[in-house]
Amino acid sequence: MNILLLGSGGREHALAWKIGASPLVQRLYCAPGNAGIAQEAECVALDPGDHAAVIAFCKEKRIDLVVVGPEAPLCAGIVDDLEAAGIKAFGPSRAAAQLEGSKGFTKDLCRAHDIPTAAYERFGEPAAAKNYVRRQGAPIVVKADGLAAGKGVVVAETVAQAEAAIDMMFEGGLGRAGASVVVEECLVGEEASFFALCDGTTALALASAQDHKRAFDDDRGPNTGGMGAYSPAPVMTAAMTRRTMTEIVEPTLRAMAANGTPYKGVLFAGLMITAQGPKLIEYNVRFGDPETQVLMLRLMSDLVPALLAACDGVLKDFDLRWYPDAALTVVMAAKGYPGDYAKGTVIEGLEDAAGVEGVQIFHAGTRAEDGRILANGGRVLNVGATGETVAAAQRRAYEAVDKIRWPDGFCRRDIGRRAIAREGKA
Ligand code: AMP
Repeated sequence: MNILLLGSGGREHALAWKIGASPLVQRLYCAPGNAGIAQEAECVALDPGDHAAVIAFCKEKRIDLVVVGPEAPLCAGIVDDLEAAGIKAFGPSRAAAQLEGSKGFTKDLCRAHDIPTAAYERFGEPAAAKNYVRRQGAPIVVKADGLAAGKGVVVAETVAQAEAAIDMMFEGGLGRAGASVVVEECLVGEEASFFALCDGTTALALASAQDHKRAFDDDRGPNTGGMGAYSPAPVMTAAMTRRTMTEIVEPTLRAMAANGTPYKGVLFAGLMITAQGPKLIEYNVRFGDPETQVLMLRLMSDLVPALLAACDGVLKDFDLRWYPDAALTVVMAAKGYPGDYAKGTVIEGLEDAAGVEGVQIFHAGTRAEDGRILANGGRVLNVGATGETVAAAQRRAYEAVDKIRWPDGFCRRDIGRRAIAREGKA
């Protein structure tokens, strides 16, 4: 079969690597892709935002399945448009993508169906939001309702910080995303990312992962899209996974189906594991980045039949096998990220690095020019490795990182540290 993958990040490189390894796949295309994806797929200069162009391409190339990486095309309804044109697509409809596209929508769904989450209120203007903040006190969390490219959440340590965040959002600091806000209780616990494949009625738990959001070691510095990840997340024990499925994921699926907007695709639950159990921080309606990179390294089964089963509503009785090994990925970013950074700097040593046992490098913001690999974004490379333990995977990943010659890049040196500390105690 022929598959088109949409996206250009490390997540899409990992998906392309796994999809491309399937014996079911004849041709794999990726739009727009990057220099690493070009080793697995034929990259095409298509804009995923131009649905008509994507549909025309699918017809011309006889595409059997479109896999959508990022959230923006999903929230813009690309799956609806592809399906209307008779093209199978993996991902939720526009209506179902509201689980990520509107935080207020998800909070109301949790309230209506007793899904554990932080206590909250929604506001359409600043005065009432600030009153609520003053009544509740700090710490407290202020969230823009809409998609804000990871910048829409402020965990405020003081009432003044929360009020400033409310002003910033209602004054248009995040564009239309901040026209409505959610103010919610600050949860305490350990965070984990949990993934389930969904076919509208059935959810199949994938694996868990933990990522590192801050730019610098010891979780200091500004928030980023993610500087590294590892899987499995030790906090997601079998019992915690069961509770997450029965208390959070399955009721969500039932509610979405009952609303007439069944959820298909991958559901990514950002969780806080609290003293009372798992609570939902937020949903994403696509694979996580960089979590997908470690999930794909651990997945033994062919991914393509699972994606098809999710599209076709036949996940019931479906099973996936995982390697028992742990996986870890270190993100290498351009100096300055998540602020301003330079593009076009030269990266060398990638072949040496890829030669380290158990290592797999996934590209994010890269492009190839005259046989050289150049940085072309903020997050640029994912240096991934597997190992019997998270510590072993970490050793391999950093051995590979140290072979990469890129003076204009940086990475954290402590990815996996919490899991490794637990392994030390085990
Ligand atoms: P989100 O974009 O909703 O995942 O939020 C980004 C980050 O903000 C999360 O990964 C958490 O670290 C933090 N966060 C969001 N909501 C809460 C909350 N209610 N309590 C504590 N931390 C939160």
